[in-house]
Amino acid sequence: MTTIFMHCRPGFESEACAEISEHAARLGVAGYAKAKASSACAEFVCSDPQDAERLMDELAFARLIFPRQWARGEFIDLPETDRISVLLVHLQGLPVCGSLWLEVLDTNDGKELSNFCKKFEAPLRNALSKAGRLVEDPKKPRLLLTFKSGREVFVGLAEAHNSAIWPMGIPRLKFPRAAPSRSTLKLEEAWHHFIPREEWDERLAAGMTSVDLGAAPGGWTWQLVNREMLVTAIDNGPMAESLMDTGLVEHLQADGFTYKPRRPVDWMVCDIVEKPARNAALLEAWIGEGLCREAVVNLKLPMKQRYAEVKRLLERIEEGFKARGVRVAIGCKQLYHDREEVTCHLRRLSK
Ligand code: SAM
Repeated sequence: MTTIFMHCRPGFESEACAEISEHAARLGVAGYAKAKASSACAEFVCSDPQDAERLMDELAFARLIFPRQWARGEFIDLPETDRISVLLVHLQGLPVCGSLWLEVLDTNDGKELSNFCKKFEAPLRNALSKAGRLVEDPKKPRLLLTFKSGREVFVGLAEAHNSAIWPMGIPRLKFPRAAPSRSTLKLEEAWHHFIPREEWDERLAAGMTSVDLGAAPGGWTWQLVNREMLVTAIDNGPMAESLMDTGLVEHLQADGFTYKPRRPVDWMVCDIVEKPARNAALLEAWIGEGLCREAVVNLKLPMKQRYAEVKRLLERIEEGFKARGVRVAIGCKQLYHDREEVTCHLRRLSK
């Protein structure tokens, strides 16, 4: 297995390539990255076949910003009929898998192929189980089959605990009808991505205090209220009446870049569309000064050198914390609901 195959947002293939190449170089893995523009995928071809597994072992998927999903393996050609027999022969050379996901690319062709995958999945699953190639076990590697067409598939493996939590890295979230804006899903996706589900009751608890900077009309505030938190919503624009009626929201018409809470809060979230360096500095100040314990902030991406620019901002934030002597866990991801932006999550750790 020489190739690491990655899914990404269409148009961000070169960022995925730059990012994986940098990690490979850091870990001493020789190889090269390649991608076609707007293909929604990228590949890293390792010179040494053993290195694909080593790279995935030594690199936490959570550290990757642009790849939505990854797997090590190779492309195989499939016949028009009896694809299952060909797959079974190929799988004999791989370990028994603990789960199976069929994936397509986030392109129009990919969307068309998803119907084929839906029909193909049940018979394939049955055949793999019968042949002893698939047993439900989260500790065993996940088999990820990414179909480029009905005739070509990337047969890949990834550890379930070190890869995307949704097929293709695309969340299945239902838009809550009562939320006043679609961007509500961004914050919900961020929580799913950055906070393990079993920690939600402790870290997103009822009665916690929060500040939403650039809150109007209230999609993110809705998520905080939905967790029964108290929210100070900062925006000159109007907040949805339904949110104000909950009694959990205080709306202040103030500037998000100068507002400071009287007492530290549990959460700060910020969806103000501004220069990324300004949002990054705001984030560093809130967490660094102890104004909040956790934060989710969107950073707009520049037109060029998008990976290099995000990395530079994250390094600057990290340096700020070092200088202040505070320990902070930092995560950054281009979420499915992010377009020309990435989402950062920061959590202040006790010393
Ligand atoms: N998160 C919101 C939601 O889910 O409904 C949408 C936020 S919208 C993308 C950005 C908001 O930031 C706008 O309502 C705008 O008025 C506000 N904004 C822009 N500059 C601001 C500033 N300096 N201080 C506070 N709010 C600001």
